[in-house]
Parts: sequence; C-alpha cells; structure tokens
Amino acid sequence: MKIVRDLDVKGKRVLVRVDFNVPLKDGEIRDDNRMVAALPTIKELLNKGASVILFSHLGKIKHKDGEEAIKEGKTKNNMQYLVDHLASLLPGVNVSFCNDLRGKSLKETVSALKPGEVLLMQNTRYEAGEQKNDPELAKEWASLADAYVMDAFGTSHRKHASTYGVPEILKAQGKPVALGFLVEKEVQALSRCVDVKDEDRPYVAILGGLKVSDKIQVIDSLLKKCDKILIGGAMTYTFKKALGEDVGISPVEDDQLDYARRCLEEADGKIILPVDNIVTDAFKDWTIKKVSKEIGPGFEGMDIGPETIKLFQEELKGAKMVFWNGPMGVFEQSDFAAGTIAVAEAIANLPDAFTVIGGGDSAAAAAQFGFKDDFSHVSTGGGASLEMIETDGKLPGIEVIRD
Ligand code: ADP
Ligand code: MG
Repeated sequence: MKIVRDLDVKGKRVLVRVDFNVPLKDGEIRDDNRMVAALPTIKELLNKGASVILFSHLGKIKHKDGEEAIKEGKTKNNMQYLVDHLASLLPGVNVSFCNDLRGKSLKETVSALKPGEVLLMQNTRYEAGEQKNDPELAKEWASLADAYVMDAFGTSHRKHASTYGVPEILKAQGKPVALGFLVEKEVQALSRCVDVKDEDRPYVAILGGLKVSDKIQVIDSLLKKCDKILIGGAMTYTFKKALGEDVGISPVEDDQLDYARRCLEEADGKIILPVDNIVTDAFKDWTIKKVSKEIGPGFEGMDIGPETIKLFQEELKGAKMVFWNGPMGVFEQSDFAAGTIAVAEAIANLPDAFTVIGGGDSAAAAAQFGFKDDFSHVSTGGGASLEMIETDGKLPGIEVIRD
C-alpha cells in the first residue's frame, strides 16, 4: 500500500479525503483535533509542490426528510465555518473555499489552483449521491485530480463516493492513490490488535459502554484473539441477567440474552464480569448510591464497584497488549466515574505494554481524566476502529487503496 510519502506529486493536483467532521456549535469549532491530525499529510503534499484539494463530510444531512430538513442540515454543517481556522493552522499558505461541489465553477476553481495552494470543498454530504457512492458523482470528483490520498480514518469504514468511488476510478485510470499519515498510523496500531503476535501476549481486552448489540461482532472477534476479556459498563447487566441474576432496573437488552449466554459458554472462562457494582435508586430520587454485590430489585447499576476495580487491576498485571473500548460506568457523572478512571489509570501505568483505545467515548474519557498521552495509540475513529477489529482489519476505504 502506498503512503503519501511515496508519491511524486510536484505540480500535480491531489484530492485528499480528510476527516474534518469536527463538533460545531452555532458555527464555532469546539474541538479541532481532527483538523490538526490531517496537517502532516497536507504539509507533506504542499512541500512536494502539489496543489491540494481537501474534501470531507461534516455532520448529518437528512436528504430523505424533505427540503426543510436538508436546508437546516446544510446551514448547520456548512464547511465554510472551517476555512478561517484551517488557514490559521497553515500559516503562509493560500487557503480558499469552494461552495460548489459539481459543475463548471468548481472545475474552474480547481484549474486555477497553483502548487502550494489549498482549496477546501463544501461538505461532501451536501450531495445526496455521496453516501450512496453514486458513480456519476464519483466520476466528476475523480476528474478534478491527478492523484488521491485517503487520510480520513474516521470514515474509512464507509463505502461512499469520496472514500471509495473516487479512488476506485483514479486507480483504474492508473493515477496514484495512497494513504495519508494519519491513516497509516491508525492501520499500524490497530493491525497489531488484529494480527496478534506471541510477544504481545497476554492480550487483554476491556469492553464497556452501552449496548451489547452494538458490540457483538467486536466481542466475537476479540474472543478469538484475546487471552482475557474484562466486561464493564451497561453491557454487564445483559450478561448478568443471562446468568440468572436480578439486575433490577439496570439497562438490559432482552433480545441479546441468548447471545450473552452462548458467548459466556464459548468463552470458557476468558470473560471476566464485575463482582460488585455502584448502584442507585435512579428512577426514584437518587437518594441512595451504594456499593452492592448483587444489584437487586429497584436498583440500577451505574459503575463497576471497588472489588471489581481490584480484580480488573489484577487481571491487567503483566499484560503485553490491551485494547480498550467502552467506559466502565456513566463516567459523565462524577459519582460514577471511578471505574473508568481506575481502568484508564491501570492501563496507562502498565510498564511495557502496547495499549490502544478504540471508541469515541472511551477516548473522550481518557482525555478528560488526563491519561490520553499514556496510551500507545488513541484512535481518532470510534466506529472505524471497532470495525477494524470486527473485520480483521479490512475497511473498504483503506482496501481500495491497495495495489
Ligand atoms: P465508545 O464510544 O467508547 O465505544 P459507547 O458509545 O459504547 O462507548 O458507550 C458510552 C456510553 O456508555 C457512555 O455515555 C456511558 O455513560 C454509558 N454507560 C457506561 N456504563 C453505563 C451504565 N452502567 N449505565 C448506563 N450507561 C452507561
Ligand atoms: Mg460512543
């Protein structure tokens, strides 16, 4: 697979699929991490004398929901909000914006672009054909460029026009396509969690978060690869109920009980469940918050308890590789953050382990509690990192780049 450093693009126009899907509030960027993460690739291309055309989706636009919804989506998720900030991240570089996603004026703007200049296109999802990988749209976008670079890890699991159709066409035309530095880094780190080497054992996975149904494929995949799987978060209660426990008013997915039971059988002791919980009488008036082994009628599990923290710390000792997805409790509320903090800290303090976070909320938790820099890799793509594990490392937006 080619990487952006391998490309000879002097005087060429390079279309770069970036992930500029940043959180916006009233047109203000609340976190520019994703923009900053794309800079090494953009700078590499500029230094090589290319002109750079950036395109990305931003937020959701509901094309099915009629004119009003489309208009609202477009106003809320206008890529123009990002131009000034992008320019400030690239001092000395001429950064411009093009509102048109198709047609003559786009073509002319692109033709006028000089080496060393950057053009940011409008939100790709303004076009209804983007998410359908519409061949006409892909053809038009492909016609803008001499080369293509994929640096949008967060959307590499989507087979859209900008992530799949365009590179497919350019590749067929014999034009160079490559991965950007951000995707290269993600692939290197997550591949290690997928193709496990002996020196990376014991390999421990920690899974939490909300729903079992969201994570079935991840659990199945990790069961084959890991030596231990520690389960926390709201997922716990479906597993506990499957074992016959009374989990009170805790969130349970009743349609996943059979799966959970089968999973525990097949896991043959690999899956470790919490031995105590922080529970509340949440739906009454939150008067009671206590540690409890069994959850029991009228109570809701909100976090793993202190004995479980000790158990998980013990299980993590000596681990050579850790994959973490999903908070251990409702960490957004300080009363229920202790489990997530302790687990993040225990992983962060492992002396010589390769440690990876995949999952948006887990990454946010690690950042919030100050452990982010202690991990070997924190994926920028929540959904994409999970799909990487589920599919044994084969994401369409990355595979299409392969020679
Ligand atoms: P990630 O984005 O890391 O994959 P998820 O999206 O699966 O994680 O889950 C994150 C959410 O799970 C958080 O908002 C957290 O509050 C919630 N959660 C964790 N434990 C519980 C629990 N015991 N009860 C309810 N929600 C929980
Ligand atoms: Mg999430």
